[in-house]
Amino acid sequence: MAALAVIIGCKPKSDDELMAKAKKIHSHILSIDTHTDTPFWFHREEFDFSGEDENNRAKVNLKKMSTGALDAVFLAVFIGQDDRTPEMYDTVYKEALDIFNAIHSTAKRHADKAAIALTSKDAYQIKKEGKKALFIGIENGYPIGKDLGKLSEFYNLGARYLTLCHTRNNDICDSSTDPDGAEHNGLSPFGYDVVRELNRLGMLVDVSHISDSSFYQALRTSKVPVLASHSNARSVCDNPRNLTDDMIVKLAERGGVIQVCLLSSYVKPDEPNPVRDSAYHELYKKYNHFKDLSPEVRKEAIEAWYALDEAYPPVLATVSDLVDHIDHIVKIAGIDYVGIGSDFDGGGALDDCRDASQMINITVELLKRGYSESDIEKIWGKNFLRVFEQAERYAQSLK
Ligand SMILES: [Zn+2]
Repeated sequence: MAALAVIIGCKPKSDDELMAKAKKIHSHILSIDTHTDTPFWFHREEFDFSGEDENNRAKVNLKKMSTGALDAVFLAVFIGQDDRTPEMYDTVYKEALDIFNAIHSTAKRHADKAAIALTSKDAYQIKKEGKKALFIGIENGYPIGKDLGKLSEFYNLGARYLTLCHTRNNDICDSSTDPDGAEHNGLSPFGYDVVRELNRLGMLVDVSHISDSSFYQALRTSKVPVLASHSNARSVCDNPRNLTDDMIVKLAERGGVIQVCLLSSYVKPDEPNPVRDSAYHELYKKYNHFKDLSPEVRKEAIEAWYALDEAYPPVLATVSDLVDHIDHIVKIAGIDYVGIGSDFDGGGALDDCRDASQMINITVELLKRGYSESDIEKIWGKNFLRVFEQAERYAQSLK
């Protein structure tokens, strides 16, 4: 790079110049983060989504979004996988409704600065009004139980994608990380119906977290391109949560998009940290693996978790490591099939991009590596919106 700069007679840009250029680009492109677990905070009384409260631990709030030049986020209605009994299905369905309510009431409380977005066009309109766009996605199909009708109910509450499963198998499909291995060898018969119903509604099929067989079957079944809302390239960081080169290429051939994720272990293999590991082991044992806790004990456990994280900070991957994934995806599939889904408040954090206020650092790194403004616009949202629009158009065509 330096040699080329000498030949063409200009000196490489300083970090300040690159940051100024990044900010200028962000003033007229739309930037979307397609996966955050920030609603995790919405139930807490003391939580303030505006971000004016200095003690705010959430990685995404309106102030941090402004600082990081982020225009839109997907807020996840996330339910961790548990027993698949009728009683539990009833419980988690109600929990999901509570999270939808919390998202809508948070948006209402901050209506001067944010608005719920429902269509691919909404985000542009909301940015024009000087506000932040809040989309809703569901992470884990668990709360629909075995009832396809729940999908349209959740769609009507604003959900625009469904991550078919989470870290364990469910009644829809196999997970990439279930310790018991495959159960359905991909999608269950109900899972195939779920994919078709998502297509009918205009909701995106999110293939993050699902097993490789589930991925290929979902890809073949879906009538429209699919989304990986927060996943990386397995050949850059070997983790079952990431997509193989073949999966990325097939996803792209069908017009889909993979949104790179900022969860450090999916960006770069963790460095061994036995002291931290054993401290966490003790903590999980003490608090019954965060299961069946009273609200008070749960709060105490979360505080202890944060204290431990501060006492033994992990060595995190960097923005440069993350952009290695983008480079790789662009190399094997092309610039039109990659985007960004942070997983903030669900484990996402890089050493130099710890929360939404530092998202613009990714743009600075992209500029350093020679990505053009139009490339950056695609990565930050245009690619994702193309996929979203195709899902909307297909659903419209059925009416
Ligand atoms: Zn996730």
